[in-house]
Amino acid sequence: MMLDVLVPVCAICGTPITADRLTCSDDCHEKAVDFIESQYGYYKKVVDAVSGITYRVPVRDIIELGLKHSDLVNYPAWDEE
Ligand SMILES: [Zn+2]
Repeated sequence: MMLDVLVPVCAICGTPITADRLTCSDDCHEKAVDFIESQYGYYKKVVDAVSGITYRVPVRDIIELGLKHSDLVNYPAWDEE
């Protein structure tokens, strides 16, 4: 969910924000997480391109922490259909 805009604004309310954030406040952040979870589910399947293993990663972690390849091994494998 990287937003690539010239003038960064809050994804929820449109308030101008610093470039390294998605929203302007904790309140808007929670709304953004809720929205994304409602659209995409609580977990996202993330495939390790190197090992081919699919991991079950909480969407919130991706939003709040970002996700590096080296972090993937900390998550459980996605082994259910
Ligand atoms: Zn906002």
